[in-house]
Amino acid sequence: MRESNFHFPSVNKACVSITSALYDRRALDCTADLPLVNSLSHLNYLTSSSARIREILTTDGGLERLVRILRTTRVTEDTLHNWKWTMAFQCVVNVGVRGTPEIRQRVVQVGAVPILVEILHAYLLGSEVVRLEQRAREAANDQSAHMPTTKMERLQAEYEAARRRLQSINHVMYRHDDVILTLQLLAYLGKMSTQRQLLHEYSALVDVFSLVERFTLQNTFQPDMVYWSSVAMRNNCRRDETRGSCRQCAYLECQKWERHSNEFAKCRRCRKAKYCSKQCQSKAWQDGHRYWCIERTPSAAS
Ligand SMILES: [Zn+2]
Ligand SMILES: [Zn+2]
Repeated sequence: MRESNFHFPSVNKACVSITSALYDRRALDCTADLPLVNSLSHLNYLTSSSARIREILTTDGGLERLVRILRTTRVTEDTLHNWKWTMAFQCVVNVGVRGTPEIRQRVVQVGAVPILVEILHAYLLGSEVVRLEQRAREAANDQSAHMPTTKMERLQAEYEAARRRLQSINHVMYRHDDVILTLQLLAYLGKMSTQRQLLHEYSALVDVFSLVERFTLQNTFQPDMVYWSSVAMRNNCRRDETRGSCRQCAYLECQKWERHSNEFAKCRRCRKAKYCSKQCQSKAWQDGHRYWCIERTPSAAS
């Protein structure tokens, strides 16, 4: 039963709180930001250090509550508000990255994937806006280029359109660290075949890996983004133990399943990705496999 009041507004102090030594599920229902942030920062420590707490969170509705905090907290000018989102996000990432396969499955089931998709999408759009703005500005400044006015207008229009799209999702948090954590979490969530299937099911609207793949572009994104997105892509190619060790065609638009474990040919370079046909392989290479395909050395093969 929910207690009538979880905090004393006069002193902004929580009745029930989470400390580094004590977990109390009720503290997550606190509606005042300050005590909630306080509890969340302790929970952040607990989720990174205690397997027991990670397990409890998946059974007492704590994980659902954390995801709800992420869904309902919108980026504002209020630092405390944003801090609440950051702390809740780190808790979810800790649970997903450090949890057992069963716990990772729960992270997907309680609805974390759409939040991850939102973060990646917003970051990509943000980078696109910066790139388009730069191009439009360069074109305007470069007198010697004699760029036709129509082309300049088109560049400007593209930039304006991207900026408007970004503005429509300006409630989404998408800082550098959030993206790293997102990619890291996805790399772990996609490790085992059962969770991977769930991941694909729960990101039905936009395939999460087609977003992840865009972060593998070296020289465009920071090295740690490239690293974690590449790990996530390679994990996505793992065999499925529940389907007799079969793999899917690694071309994201195809994803056809093998009928037996040796049906498709592997990429000769990395020996990770498998393709149902030469066409799928060359399309996938163009789309981005070339960025995360790492040549397998004899020592790595042994
Ligand atoms: Zn295919
Ligand atoms: Zn390859």
